[in-house]
Amino acid sequence: MNLFSPYASLTYHRCEQLAQYSQNPQYMDRRYLTLEHRQANNQVALWMKQAGMLTWQDEAGNQWGALKCDNPNAPTLVIGSHLDTVPNGGKYDGILGVLLPISVLQYLHDTQQSLPYNLQIVGFGDEEGTRFGATLLGSRAVAGTWQENWANLVDADGIGLPQAMRDFGLDINLIRNCKREHNINAFIEIHIEQGPVLEAKKLAVGVVSAIAGARRFKCTLTGFAGHAGTVPMNMRQDALAGAAEMILAIEALASTHQLVATVGKLSCLSGATNVISGKTEFSIDIRSENDQQRDVAFTQIEQKIHDIATTRKLKLEISQTHSASTVKCDSGLQTQLSQAIAKQGILPFTLSSGAGHDTMAMANICPVGMLFMRCDKGISHHPAEAITEHDVEHTLAVLHHFLQSFPL
Ligand SMILES: [Zn+2]
Repeated sequence: MNLFSPYASLTYHRCEQLAQYSQNPQYMDRRYLTLEHRQANNQVALWMKQAGMLTWQDEAGNQWGALKCDNPNAPTLVIGSHLDTVPNGGKYDGILGVLLPISVLQYLHDTQQSLPYNLQIVGFGDEEGTRFGATLLGSRAVAGTWQENWANLVDADGIGLPQAMRDFGLDINLIRNCKREHNINAFIEIHIEQGPVLEAKKLAVGVVSAIAGARRFKCTLTGFAGHAGTVPMNMRQDALAGAAEMILAIEALASTHQLVATVGKLSCLSGATNVISGKTEFSIDIRSENDQQRDVAFTQIEQKIHDIATTRKLKLEISQTHSASTVKCDSGLQTQLSQAIAKQGILPFTLSSGAGHDTMAMANICPVGMLFMRCDKGISHHPAEAITEHDVEHTLAVLHHFLQSFPL
């Protein structure tokens, strides 16, 4: 039996156990500053204590654990991810990244091993942004990039963020106190891949090179509504037909530029069977691990869809709704993670992340590294999200190798 198989089983069962804390009895749903968030924090704190850690909850509702080393000049490594989920989500997205390091520390505790540096584990309270609309609230509070105007955010039930914090026992006026800065030497996040690449490569784990920057746009296309029976085809200004041509052009240009662009939202007025659409709105989400390449591709997309609008006598307005730069993972940490993977007898493989993570926020204050673990068919944000105990075992061993090699 492998050294880590009992700890893999422990991690796997703890994921199951934590999944009990859901706002909805039918499916997984654990949002920021809810009773279930508190229950998850309390449970995780208990496991951290069992692994020999000191625990606390910060002013943003993030759960922390620390294993302090005797050397006062020792560096500090932080490992963590998030404990919230999307509605009807899975049991591993985020959660695994908090429970895996706790299991490795449990192993160190059980075998009476110590580390020559400070190790902290964090379970961020909000990454998904499903309660208040803004994402990474937990990690951005820690990184000091909390936005003052978030005090105006309101959830679907009309509860404001300051009130939700009060109900949770927190004070939004103290949020700046959880900002960490010069006292973190590196941050590592372990996360399920949420994509099919590792599975296709038959690899349990992979090293993340960068988290792709995304830009999002809202496009409004105005034509002229008319009767479906009386306006001849060559006299129409059909906003929906124009949008259809644009969506296909966006898809083709994304392939040409070898990046990803998605139209995920489309709405059309008047939306009646017998009316030519007079107005259509759609979204564009474009991502690449190279910001410059992404911007060049978007300029071409913009040009192309404007041409389509002109030809079809439609008015096109484009407004940007979101922009995030690519976050590069630290090359030294990437090398150390690759070496840890090789030590486990697995071929080191590097891939980029198309999804956003807490690591993006933490990159503002320290070097960051990410390790992806294979998940079944790349499915996430879905109840079918699945992992294997065997992969957990490999990941625990890789993390253990990494902890032994840190710092350089
Ligand atoms: Zn996640």
